[in-house]
Amino acid sequence: MNVLKGLWDRSLSRSGGPDAVMERRGGGLPQGRWDQAKDLIDLFDHQPKGCLILDQSLKVLGANPPAEKLLGVKAGTLVGRSFKEWIEEPQRAAFSQDLLGMNGDRDYRGSLTLLLTDSGSLEVDITGYRLTSGHLALSLRGLKEGAKTRDFLHSHFHALQLLIKGSSLKEILHGLVLDVESSNAQMLCSILLMDPEGEHLLLGAAPSLPDFYNEAVDGIAIGEGQGSCGTAAARGQRVIVEDIQEHPYWLRYRDLASKAGLAACWSEPIVSSKGSILGTFAIYHRTPTPPLLEDLKAIKAFAGIAAIAIEKNQALESLERSEERYALAMEALSCGIRDWDLTAQRVQWNTAFYTLFGYAKGDFTEAAWSFTRAVHPEDVEALKGSLKAAIEGQDLEWQSTYRFLRQSGDWAVVHEKALIRRDDKGLPLRLIGVLDDVTEEHQLKKILELSQFAMKTVRDAIYWIRQDGRFVYVNDAAVRASGYPRDELMTMSLSMIDPSITPQIWEDLWATLKKRGSIALESVTQMKDGHVFPVEVVANFMIFEEEEFAVGVVRDISDRKKIEMEMEGYRRELEKMIRLDHLTQIANRRALEERLEDEWRRAHREASSLSLLMIDIDRFKDFNDHFGHLEGDAMLLKLAEVLKAGLGRAGDFVARYGGEEFVVLLPKTLGDQAMHVAESLRSKVEALLEPITVSIGISSTLIGSQALQLEVFSMARVKSEVRELIASADEALYKAKANGRNCIMMEAIAGHLSADQERSPPGAAA
Ligand code: GH3
Ligand code: MG
Ligand code: MG
Repeated sequence: MNVLKGLWDRSLSRSGGPDAVMERRGGGLPQGRWDQAKDLIDLFDHQPKGCLILDQSLKVLGANPPAEKLLGVKAGTLVGRSFKEWIEEPQRAAFSQDLLGMNGDRDYRGSLTLLLTDSGSLEVDITGYRLTSGHLALSLRGLKEGAKTRDFLHSHFHALQLLIKGSSLKEILHGLVLDVESSNAQMLCSILLMDPEGEHLLLGAAPSLPDFYNEAVDGIAIGEGQGSCGTAAARGQRVIVEDIQEHPYWLRYRDLASKAGLAACWSEPIVSSKGSILGTFAIYHRTPTPPLLEDLKAIKAFAGIAAIAIEKNQALESLERSEERYALAMEALSCGIRDWDLTAQRVQWNTAFYTLFGYAKGDFTEAAWSFTRAVHPEDVEALKGSLKAAIEGQDLEWQSTYRFLRQSGDWAVVHEKALIRRDDKGLPLRLIGVLDDVTEEHQLKKILELSQFAMKTVRDAIYWIRQDGRFVYVNDAAVRASGYPRDELMTMSLSMIDPSITPQIWEDLWATLKKRGSIALESVTQMKDGHVFPVEVVANFMIFEEEEFAVGVVRDISDRKKIEMEMEGYRRELEKMIRLDHLTQIANRRALEERLEDEWRRAHREASSLSLLMIDIDRFKDFNDHFGHLEGDAMLLKLAEVLKAGLGRAGDFVARYGGEEFVVLLPKTLGDQAMHVAESLRSKVEALLEPITVSIGISSTLIGSQALQLEVFSMARVKSEVRELIASADEALYKAKANGRNCIMMEAIAGHLSADQERSPPGAAA
């Protein structure tokens, strides 16, 4: 027994090899017996159940490792202690009695509550029997051993519950640690998490370890020799340290561990589903403790649960982050966003969408098509159709322009561009549309298109001219009108197609244009082939993008000019006609009156004289009566010709005054000279137109007074003086008739001639 006790001692302390101990303690034992004893010791050590050998006083003589573990003591420290220490006081006596009452035929079977040093109590089943030496052998089976699986499942289940409940990672890990610890009173757990850089471990959950220890461990570097956890994280493999004080990995942390009362540390790396290290799950013991197979299975399972919790949390966090980013982006954008969940058929609009069109948040429901109530009735069908087609098809993008009613009641033009997200099978998941208010652009575009169209098709030439006179834009009509190719025209300046615009004139024009904003004028365009045609120009001053321009709209007015000239011709004809006597083709009375007024004014201006002859056919009534009216007309015509031909000077003027009366105007002619002319005419008629004779009355005026020269005549004054001149001639004529006809009488106008003068021609009665 001494030998065996020594062997047990060796076995339990496991210090050195059995052969060494053999030599020390069991020297002299025959080799065969020694081998047999070694086998027995190994068998004892490897019993799965805890085995104890006690003496009569219940002092421990031998114990295998499971027994040490069950009783929560350090390996090799059980021998010599009393088993009574672990038995509750009230049970001690009865147990001792039952145990010691055993004989060779009767085994002891019972259960007992053992008191454990620092982790409460443990129910054990005990089988006892007496050895031949009289010593007592006990086999212990912790009732909790069987319950461990149940506890483990409970921990697992609880952790999963927390996960499903959506508890925070801290709560889940904390709960997991507490569950594991409560299932095994000797265990203390800690979970450390890998930092984002993958270089350090951060405290995850270790509610039962002292704060100073946790603080020291938080942020520990990952690497070989960094305690159990730092090493396990570095290797990605489980690290079992049964005795911290003796293990090289703990060299740096021995004191810290002993201060925290930690003696063993098994650490399992927490590995993600993708194989990356997320952290470590560690189980500490207060005494140096080797793990059992069950412990190893459990620690791996707990690490697995922790991995699920951490990975789920990471996924949630990144989802939250991305959702937060998405929500932020959605709200930050100034354009409207439609986020259409095609699976749930729900639409969300961002704030900008509402403000863009003046609506209050929530004016549109989440229903997919609720927005169409604000779409222009003419656009609704097309919009719905194209959206449905894009979603039901395989399109990944969609866009459309449609009219959308603003809160204010007017229509906005919206351009929407959307991305359609699909799953692997191509089924639509989500449509995210970006809505832009393009009303203004749309209108501008329309105006631009219209103006471009107008510029192109308008028949007027349009030139955009810079201050230096160069063209910056010319339309098609300008190209046609100038006859220059566009390229050449664009290198030219205004003066090259309008020679009337000299640099000086252009300078003045520009200044006027700038001052007035617009001017209209007539000018010419000289074509490349030299042909010049008249144009009408309407020029506008414009500032476009801070540059000043003259925009000239130039219209060919050749046709108008031609018509104008024709019209002028007609007009002149007409003018002539209304002043012409249709029978004699000499000036009529109206022409005479106008001419007379002009000559009167001139005579005054030039302080010259003016004489008027009033000529009347003698007894023409008789001529008509005798020769007929037609002959009379013919005679009138002949007389007109004779009178016309009888007047020598350019300024002399003959008109038919009416009927058979004619007037001759003699500018710058004094009474005497007028008398000569009258006499010449009278004698010519007498000679040429037999039997016709004429009587002539003369009025003559000499305008010599300085005062009169300076006098400004009113129209009325002119007319009255002219009438006076005619009246005087008429009076003289009357006198000539009275004097026997075919003679000449002269009447001076009072105040104009020094004295009345009456001259009678030779052969005329005085
Ligand atoms: P006197 O002047 O010498 O006193 O006699 P008279 O016969 O000319 O008289 P009066 O002046 O009163 O008559 C004018 C006549 O002239 C009347 C008319 O027969 C004739 N006469 C006037 N106009 C025309 C005309 O256009 N054609 C023709 N054939 N005869 C005209
Ligand atoms: Mg007459
Ligand atoms: Mg007459």
